[in-house]
Parts: sequence; structure tokens; C-alpha cells
Amino acid sequence: MRTDVVVVGAGPAGLVLAWLLQRAGVATVVVESQSRDELGTAPKAGIVEYRTVQMLTAEGLGGAVLDFAAENHRCEFRTADETVLVDYAALTGGRPHYVFPQHELVARVAASFRDEGGTVLFQQRVTAVEQDAHEARVTTTGPEGTQELVTDVVVGCDGAGSAVARSLAGDVTQHDHRHPHRFLVISAAMPPLVDHTIYAAHPRGYAAHMRRLPEVTRLYLEVPGDQGPADWPVPRIREEVGRRLGVGRALEGVELPEVDVLDLRTRVTTPMQHGRVFLVGDAAHLITPAGGKGMNLALGDAVELAHGLVERYGPTRDGTRAEAYSTTRLPAIWRTQAFSDWFLRVISAPPVTGDDRDGFGLGLREGWVSALQRDPLLRRWFAHAYAGVDPDPEG
Ligand SMILES: Cc1cc2nc3c(=O)[nH]c(=O)nc-3n(C[C@H](O)[C@H](O)[C@H](O)COP(=O)(O)OP(=O)(O)OC[C@H]3O[C@@H](n4cnc5c(N)ncnc54)[C@H](O)[C@@H]3O)c2cc1C
Repeated sequence: MRTDVVVVGAGPAGLVLAWLLQRAGVATVVVESQSRDELGTAPKAGIVEYRTVQMLTAEGLGGAVLDFAAENHRCEFRTADETVLVDYAALTGGRPHYVFPQHELVARVAASFRDEGGTVLFQQRVTAVEQDAHEARVTTTGPEGTQELVTDVVVGCDGAGSAVARSLAGDVTQHDHRHPHRFLVISAAMPPLVDHTIYAAHPRGYAAHMRRLPEVTRLYLEVPGDQGPADWPVPRIREEVGRRLGVGRALEGVELPEVDVLDLRTRVTTPMQHGRVFLVGDAAHLITPAGGKGMNLALGDAVELAHGLVERYGPTRDGTRAEAYSTTRLPAIWRTQAFSDWFLRVISAPPVTGDDRDGFGLGLREGWVSALQRDPLLRRWFAHAYAGVDPDPEG
């Protein structure tokens, strides 16, 4: 098979990129290792930035495909001593977050892509990518064996363990960092306790509460780096989340159908391209879930690269924008990493060893929450960075 662009991975980044290329008439094939039924079933993102919704709407993906309706206006920080409610939508001139579960976004963009005649090759795992001056070759394995796709460009949208990124080893640099603690990621079968996000910076550790769907609420629980779901039976999770959130026995009897563990890893790959191969989304950079930024960055990459590739394969045959893709995206990626790293330290102070917490880290965390309570300038900066609103240069 021969095409202009092979997109590896049908996550949010791959599907939005492919949707935009298909609409512009660029010959594109998506290769996905999961089956159609498995696609997007893992519980992941739910918070979508204001600027992401504006961007997707401007690209024609709002409304009929993605009807962003559920808004988040406020978040709350709970410490042992105080409760700080930040109305970030009010602080940004009425610009909220949107709540849209990632699996729903993936399902809808995938359906629209296929309705428009797009091709997704399911159950095809990419195992190798090679390139030379004339073409790139993508090897996949699936139920019918091995096949090779010949293409002009390969875009790795294949997430954290990217096979496409591995094919660039030696041509790019991966800057990695790992935090010592982990989060349990919990789906609770209950309506939200309140209509906003709660970040509990409790002396026993971090816990959070977030809206997802009317009958599903996302909970997070910070645990030591050597623990996972096996150490946390459901009654223990209910009790500990209730204690840290300060909601007592509100979770008693609530089903927790999904409990996963998440390592707090970060990475930025520089540059995010080499020759005919580009990296987009989690394949290029990883960010902790603090602040809800990963999918937003992935979608920002996808839209920027789509414009570059449409110019390259459109009537002008101009590759300038695609060549500049990394340089264009990296400043926003580092700014977002900086925000998320700071935010992780506001909501959690990792244990030094076992359950032994670092008093200095705990003090810093209290200090930041208290500053958010008292300093209107900090609150305003936070509101813009958190909701994903570019500050108005006029103030
Ligand atoms: C618990 C949790 C909560 C999060 N919350 C938020 C949030 O609120 N807001 C936010 O913005 N972000 C959030 N994120 C981050 C967000 O989920 C990711 O950044 C997002 O999934 C990145 O999208 P992607 O398309 O780059 O990669 P992925 O979603 O990982 O998609 C990669 C795709 O590639 C496929 N694939 C992988 N390897 C191969 C291969 N070799 N061959 C073919 N296909 C392959 C996979 O099956 C998958 O379909 C959260 C993440 C987690 C884990």
C-alpha cells in the first residue's frame, strides 16, 4: 500500500490529525494496534481547555462532531487548615474548562473520519519505521501477518510507548523525569459530590474529585511509588478518599468499577521530527495528569502539524510550516510542563521514604495554597494557565 501520510495510532492526536488531512484531500491511512471495540476504552482525560475547544471549533470539529457543553468554572483546594475556591472562569472573563471524556472524543472523531471515507487499519501494530531520501516504510503485524506500507511521511501518534519514537533513537533526545509517588486513577459509579473539581492537599497525601459523566466521577489517590491497586482494596480506597477529601463516609457503598495506577512520568523529545518522521502528542511528550494538559497538548500538536502537511501536499507544495513544526510547538510544550510541574507541587508533597513525608515539601504546598487564597495576581495567572486561556496583553 502506498499513501502520502501514515498516521500511527488512533488516539485523540492521530484521529484529529487524520480527520483534518482527510478533509483537505491528503491521502492518509491510520494504523491502530487495538481492535475497533477496544479503542479508547481506558479511562483517561476529561478536562478540555478553553483554547482547545476554540481551536477544534475553528477547525470544524465542534458542534456536530464534538458538542462541548459541560463546563467547569471553579476548582477548590482543601488543606488541613483552609478551603480555597478559585472561580477561574470569572477570572478569565467567563472562559471555562469543558468536561469531555477522552473515550467519547475518540469514538466520535473516529466515526466521523470513517463516515467521510477515512481508512483505519485496526489490529495492526507498527513494529518498525525506516526512511531514506525517497520514501518511508512502516512495518506492521496483525492477525494476517506482516505487511509494509510505503509513504512519504510517517506521524507517530502512538502514545507513551511509541514505536515510531524508538525508530528515531539517535536522531532525537528524550528528556525524562520521574516523580517518586504514583496516583491511583479511580472511576466511581456516582454523580459528582459537587459540580467542581476538588484538589485535597491533605497531610496524608493528595486526593482529588472531578466530574466526568452524570453518573461517573473520577477520583485520584496519591500512593507511594511501590504500591498499586493490589494494595488498595475498594473499602480502603473509599475510606481514604473520604478522609482526604473531608467528605466522611460519602463514598460508602459506591462501586469503583475501574482502579488503575499511574506513574508520574514526564518527557519532552527534542526535536519532535526527523526527516520524514514526526512525533505528535504523548509519543513526543508526556506530562503528569496534574492540571489536565496531556490531551490538550496532543490536540495542539495535531492541528499545527495538520496545517503544515496540508500546505506540503496542497496546491502550493510548501513544506516550510511542517519543517518548523517542532520549533513552533516546543515553547508551548515547555510552558505547559512548567505549569504542570508547579501544579503537582501545589497539590501533592511526595513522601521521602515510605509514608514519611518531607516537612519542607508539605510547607511549600501549604504556602502555595495560602498564596492562591491571598494573592489576586497569582490567582489570575493560575486561572489563565489552568483554563488554557491566553492572557490579554492589555491586562
Ligand atoms: C488517568 C489520566 C488522566 C488524564 N487526564 C487528562 C485530562 O483531564 N486532560 C488532558 O488534557 N489530558 C489528560 N490525560 C492525558 C491524555 O490522556 C493523553 O495525553 C492523551 O491520551 C494523548 O493522546 P495521544 O493521541 O497522543 O496518545 P494515546 O491516547 O495514548 O493514543 C495512542 C494510540 O496509539 C495506539 N498505538 C500504540 N502503539 C501502537 C503501535 N505500535 N502501532 C499502532 N498503534 C499503536 C494506541 O493503541 C492508542 O490508540 C490523562 C491521562 C491519564 C492516564
